Parts: sequence; structure tokens; C-alpha cells
Amino acid sequence: MPDYSRRGLLAAGAAGGLIAATGAANAEPFVAKPGDGGFARSSNALPPGDKVVHHAASDIEAMPDFHFSLDSGRPKVTSGGWAKEATESNFPISKGIAGVHMYLDAGASRELHWHAIAAEWAFILEGKCQAMVIDPSGQREVANFGPGDVWFFPKGHGHSIQTIGDKPCHFILSFDNGGFSEHGTFSITDWVSLTPKDMLAENFGIPAAFFDKMPTGETYIMAGPILPESKAKQFLLPPAQTHKFALMDLAPRIDTSGGSLRLATQKEFPMSKTMSGGVMTLKPGGIREMHWHPNANEWHYYLSGQAEVALFGSGGRGKVKTFIPGDVAYIPAGYGHAIRNVGNEDVEIVLTFDSGDFQEISLSDWMAASPNYLLANNFGVSDDAFDKFPKASPHIHRQA
Ligand code: MN
Ligand code: MN
Repeated sequence: MPDYSRRGLLAAGAAGGLIAATGAANAEPFVAKPGDGGFARSSNALPPGDKVVHHAASDIEAMPDFHFSLDSGRPKVTSGGWAKEATESNFPISKGIAGVHMYLDAGASRELHWHAIAAEWAFILEGKCQAMVIDPSGQREVANFGPGDVWFFPKGHGHSIQTIGDKPCHFILSFDNGGFSEHGTFSITDWVSLTPKDMLAENFGIPAAFFDKMPTGETYIMAGPILPESKAKQFLLPPAQTHKFALMDLAPRIDTSGGSLRLATQKEFPMSKTMSGGVMTLKPGGIREMHWHPNANEWHYYLSGQAEVALFGSGGRGKVKTFIPGDVAYIPAGYGHAIRNVGNEDVEIVLTFDSGDFQEISLSDWMAASPNYLLANNFGVSDDAFDKFPKASPHIHRQA
């Protein structure tokens, strides 16, 4: 039974002092027994022969790759278009967010479907399309989208997408679950073809023969006649309920000579409750400073330029990778990272987070808020070494 009385603790302290003073080889100052009450923590010297601890180099390999080439992947192709995806199964680090590049030919439609495990966020790259969405109250919205527009469909809500006009439409999709697969969605052709015809007849109250015309299996993205713009009428819900957001009309939250960040959180886009997303631009020589997000994973799709991303994964783990158009990056929540333009043209990134709230902590802000004597102690340098450090962080900047 340990003695927690004041006298007992004093006795333990005295014994600790004695051992440290004699420096006996068998003192084992770092070894404590249960109930020692911190006895061994009184040591202030390394045991003879011990070295200061460093992380093992092998730890670096334990961090999974955070780079994936989405556009060089194999697509799922059906009559009206194709989709390529990055999910936890082909990109193991991406546990929180999956992504898809989807291409619809003119006249094509991505059929009526829903997703059981993830919400869907989209950014239109080229072309025009109409999305129809229904929510659990039976309320529907029909919205038209063009380049730079964003949509958000909450998990489980029914939706479909149809190209408008005679040009193809393609877009980047992001889902707030890395286990999601676009190849495993709930498509209505699949459902209808798997349900007995007499049950379909009873369900819809029409003759069973009607369903002889239905396709077998999933049509997914179906080719069809062109939907003219004049016919593609919208039915938009009010701002608090709409699934559509015009991202390019939003003022950037960061806008400096180094670049900009436009981001729609649930504050700007109320429907987008479980995700935030937007576009970041880095000018040549621009850097998105070292930071992390306490509350969310981050997903990137590179539209243009050449960028270098440095990821810090704790425990001696760090990786630097180069990203070009068509590539995807995944940054787990809490992991430190910085992004810089290493090419001659603008870097443009479609980026999403799996939270409707945006949070970040910048290393520059943190260090600027810390007293110099603390930083000097932390890094083992002189106090004035930090005099030249920035006192405020622009988060994106370019060296003068
Ligand atoms: Mn979908
Ligand atoms: Mn970030």
C-alpha cells in the first residue's frame, strides 16, 4: 500500500534526491513503480549511456501516400458518359472524403439515384446541366448549373443530372465519406429491374406489361436527345433551402498578391451543412502557409498549374509531393500542411472539407502570438532570433 501522506511523500522526495545526488549506475531514475507518486520524475539527467530520443526513420514510411492521379484512372463508361473516382479502396488515406470526375455527353442524363452513406458536393468545370433533387418532405428543386457553380445534396436525398444544350458537361464531385463509391449508388433503373414485374404493377397501379420496355440493370449515365435550353425551366427554392450556390459571385475570404481562397461554408450556403467547398488560386511564387484544420479532412482536385504540397503527419512523418492537373490530394484532419506554386502559371484547386464549418490554425499566427523567450527556448536559439518573424499572417502570400 503506497503511503500518500505528507510524511510519506516527503520521504520519497528525499530518497529521490539522494539517488540523483549519488548518480549510482543502478539508480534507474526513469523507472517508476506503480504508486511511486512521481518519484522517478524527479530525475533531470539521462541515465548513463542513454541518448536523446529521435523518431525512427522507418516511421516515415508508415504514412500513406496522399497523392492520387484521378484523371489517369479507369472510368466507368456507360452510353451517355463516364465517371472516374478516388475512394478509400484505391486511395487508402482518403477515409473521410471520396471524389469523382464525371462527364456527361450532350443529351445525356445521370439517372435518378441517391447515396446511402454520403452527401454530394459538386463544382461545374464546363458545360451546362440541370439537377433535380427531392428532399424527405417531398419538396423538390430544379436548378440549372454552369461553370463555377456548386451544388450540395444532403445524404440520402434523391437527385439526377441532365446536360442542357449541345455541349457536354463535366464536373468534380466530392462526398463526405471515403467509403463511398459512385459505382455503388442507388439507381432507379437498377431497382426497377430487380423488382418483380407484378410488384411494380401493383406499386404504380399500371399493367405489368409496361415494364417489359424497361432496361435490365443500371443505365447510370444514359444517352438521349438534347435538352434545349428553352425547355430547361428552373424551379429554385429560397436561399435558405436551395441546393445551388454561385461560388464565383462570392467574395474571397483570402485575397492577396499570392492568391485567393473562395469557400462556401454553411454560413454562406445554408444547405451545405456537412461540407464546405470552393476554389483556391495560387499565383506563381505564391504559398498557402503552414496550417491545419482541427475539425475536418481536406480534399483537392488540381485544375491548373504545378503545386508542391508538404504534409506533416506527426511522429517524425512528413512527405512532399508534386501535383499537376487531374491529381487529387487528401489531407487528414489535424495534419499540418502547406501548398506552394512551383510552376509558371496559376495553380487552381477545387477543394472540399467534410464539415460545414471552416476552422484553421496557422503556424505563423501561433508563433506570432507566442513570446520570443518561449520560441527561443522551444528551438534552442537566442531570443532575438525571432525578431524578424511575421507578426500577422496573410495565410496566402507571395515573397516580395
Ligand atoms: Mn449523386
Ligand atoms: Mn488546408
